[in-house]
Amino acid sequence: MTTYDEFEPVIGLEVHAEMQTQSKMFCSCPVLDATTAQANTAVCPVCAGMPGVLPVVNQRAVDYAIRVALALGCTIAPTSIFARKNYFYPDLPKGYQISQYEEPLAQHGLLPIITSEGEGVIRVRRVHLEEDTGKLTHVTGEGGSYSLVDLNRAGVPLLEIVSEPDMHTIEAVRAYAEGLRAILRYLGVNSGDMEKGVIRFEANISLRPRGSQTLGTRVEIKNLNSFRALERSVAYQIERQAETLRRGETVALETVGWNEAEGVTFIQRSKEEAHDYRYFPEPDLPPLVVDEAWVEKARALLPELPQAILRRFQQQYQLSAYDAGLLTAERDLAVYFEAVLAAAPGVSPKQAANWVLGDLFALMNSLGRDISSPPLSPDALAGLLQALSAGQINNSTAKTVLTEMAASGKSARQIIDERGLTQISDASFVSDLVQRVLAENAGEVERYRAGKESLGQWFFGQVMRQAQGKANPQVVREELQRQLDTLK
Ligand code: ADP
Ligand code: MG
Ligand code: ZN
Repeated sequence: MTTYDEFEPVIGLEVHAEMQTQSKMFCSCPVLDATTAQANTAVCPVCAGMPGVLPVVNQRAVDYAIRVALALGCTIAPTSIFARKNYFYPDLPKGYQISQYEEPLAQHGLLPIITSEGEGVIRVRRVHLEEDTGKLTHVTGEGGSYSLVDLNRAGVPLLEIVSEPDMHTIEAVRAYAEGLRAILRYLGVNSGDMEKGVIRFEANISLRPRGSQTLGTRVEIKNLNSFRALERSVAYQIERQAETLRRGETVALETVGWNEAEGVTFIQRSKEEAHDYRYFPEPDLPPLVVDEAWVEKARALLPELPQAILRRFQQQYQLSAYDAGLLTAERDLAVYFEAVLAAAPGVSPKQAANWVLGDLFALMNSLGRDISSPPLSPDALAGLLQALSAGQINNSTAKTVLTEMAASGKSARQIIDERGLTQISDASFVSDLVQRVLAENAGEVERYRAGKESLGQWFFGQVMRQAQGKANPQVVREELQRQLDTLK
């Protein structure tokens, strides 16, 4: 019996996402790229926690948070309260984090997911705003062991999105996490660059016997920075808890970390060591008031969301779920694809999808570019696809032209004309060529007639080569077959 036959995993996720505004949550320091900025270059008395300073709420950060909450179908609270979450840690200069606790910005949302089990929905419990902490770097060097603190990140707006414990498979966890990331990116509030730490996950996991409705004791895995770490650590916890329960023992309420190198979780805090954060309302900030006009304005500006575009692409363009999924993974890509279609009437969506996902992506990879700054415009690609579907060039010529377009910035039409690449469909030209190839290869023709039919493909290659790749393959194939048939 496998773990999954015996137990049902129950998983809830807490996701922290930076709101990538110009300035921090409560001061005017800039929000910098953590991987390139010099340490402690964006710090002021407010985010350094000096006495006597006053925080001011960043309106843009609230606006971003409202967008996310609405995209998740949450109810926005007309009034929410900032609270102090008190604890000591060297990356927290004030000795407390300003967060929202009893009265969060938004509650009761939903995120639809698709897994191999079909369509499902994960409930979102709450969405609240807080500030990020600084970043510690632990160093062991000649001067002994010490830690460096960088406060650039301290005070960066952070959105916490907490799910209900509605996930029961690792696949569902992944789908939820990816779905959330896609929404954040579509809304333009977060780059989704996981390796830069702008999105972090915490997973809460418990097991219960299959069929049971009560919740087991959970273990919380802190600070997961990649989908891979999320999946692996949850899988590890599921197996570990199953072993514990099989031995007749109980799972302890714990907070653990994830050791990526060794593929194991390690204990950080047990129940006895649980923090008492002594939450109380932040006295330096008034209640956050979000009136209906603000909510409606944000709602009106919401773009079409990933799930909706995915469905529309499948229905409107008859694309597979797979293709539609790839094309809608990023908003820029979905927009690009539809711009190609709009500029290329007569080109089938399936063909356009193949070119975008295949050749365009290969080209972008080789050039180190991505869809936010594509090597050629949708109009340019549309021009190429039209020449192709009109039979002016064949598939392999089109690939060459694509590369040249990116290199020269010229249109497909220009390159085809300048280089005389127009595909030859002229029947008599093709007929002469076929005749010549068959005449020059009398031995192969004999063997073909004796039954070696596979030579047909070889003759085809010879004709195409003689035509320097410009002959219409369909016309060549038919003419070749016709002449070979008369020889039989
Ligand atoms: P805390 O803030 O202390 O981590 P919460 O009650 O806010 O606690 O829950 C955090 C997350 O844990 C939520 O995503 C919730 O769905 C999940 N969760 C709560 N209880 C369980 C459980 N028994 N098993 C799995 N997940 C749980
Ligand atoms: Mg938690
Ligand atoms: Zn500051």
